Amino acid sequence: MLSAAGVGWPDGGSAPLPYVTGLGWPAAQRGISSSQSPEQASSKRGAESVSVNGQEDLSLPGSDRVRNALAAAVSRGTLDVVASTGEMSGAHGSGGDRMSADPVVPDAEVVVPDAPVTTSGDTPIARAAEAAVGVRGGAKREPWPRPARCRIMTIANQKGGVGKTTTAVNLAASLSQHGVRVLVVDLDPQGNASTALDVDHHVGRDSVYNVLVDERPLSEIVTEVEGMPGLFCAPATIDLAGAEIELVPMVARESRLNRSIEQLDMTNFDYVLIDCPPSLGLLTVNALVAAEEVLIPIQCEYYALEGLEQLLRTVELVRGHLNAGLRVSTILLTMYDGRTRLATQVADDVRSHFGDVVLQTIIPRSVRVSEAPSYGQSVITYDPASTGAVAYAEAARELAYRAVTA
Ligand code: ADP
Ligand code: MG
Repeated sequence: MLSAAGVGWPDGGSAPLPYVTGLGWPAAQRGISSSQSPEQASSKRGAESVSVNGQEDLSLPGSDRVRNALAAAVSRGTLDVVASTGEMSGAHGSGGDRMSADPVVPDAEVVVPDAPVTTSGDTPIARAAEAAVGVRGGAKREPWPRPARCRIMTIANQKGGVGKTTTAVNLAASLSQHGVRVLVVDLDPQGNASTALDVDHHVGRDSVYNVLVDERPLSEIVTEVEGMPGLFCAPATIDLAGAEIELVPMVARESRLNRSIEQLDMTNFDYVLIDCPPSLGLLTVNALVAAEEVLIPIQCEYYALEGLEQLLRTVELVRGHLNAGLRVSTILLTMYDGRTRLATQVADDVRSHFGDVVLQTIIPRSVRVSEAPSYGQSVITYDPASTGAVAYAEAARELAYRAVTA
């Protein structure tokens, strides 16, 4: 089992790695990507010569630094890889904090490329129009496919402020509006997902803390989100901050969330989305052990790539020791600002390295997205016609259709 001291995870990420097979990246991504030079792509020496921890060569043009950081981040996954495009997989996240919302900046243009699966004559613009109409009239929404069995996805990224919570809440809200039942498990002591879904999470109420520490059944704390049929939340209170420490001496400390989810009547849910805190502690490890899939939101900024290497390594560790079924299934590009070349560069390079794992839909920066939580709402209900809402709805749709085509 994990040998880490303290909260039970690699000290500084330097734990010696036993050989672990790849993360399941698509085989096609093993080759040289169109935006890479052969030198960068053909061996791991490019990765080894580049640090992703702030040591990058600042004399390089920005685009080269982006590529180098990415090469370092994915080097392990792109060598010795087991191909499994479209398979369900898992990942995790955590990390430092960087606020990215800038309410002064107007909404970036929404990027909604053609989704890989479309229904007859259906286009993103038509769906955006439908969304706009839906605000006022409550147009009938097309039901989306429900997976044959519940998909358990951990939304993780090493860094804070990359859109984990926003992604969890808005994908969940979109899915639930289309007849898909979703449970959001708030695993961040800050309780941001609980706030955004307007679920009571005052100190003292039973929460995910009691599930992890007191082995309280998860079903007892699950609350249906008001006004959103089919959307449920297991709230987090600030007590959860103590759980990182309290869990350390406990039996099966890494698997406690997994056990409580196993005891849940899964026929009630189509998706469980676990919103991780920004750290690599025991809470995040619990989320990774409980899930089959990892969804990594990546902010379209250069530094957003820096944590990826450690994140992917952590996924490998969990996969190798605690949860062999874990796969990184989905990457979502967030907070895209099409006016900056860097955002475009990051998006292109992430896509060229990770291929089909990256959802076609890119989430733009949108003032409405950042405003919604203060009203206890997802942007999907707060302003369904906004660029952010349309993009999240589109991303959720991709996710739902991928489940049946994978
Ligand atoms: P994390 O959970 O990874 O820490 P959050 O989802 O809380 O990140 O997002 C960090 C901040 O950025 C929040 O204030 C959120 O409202 C804002 N934000 C997230 N996505 C967007 C977006 N697409 N456009 C504008 N602001 C965003
Ligand atoms: Mg969060």
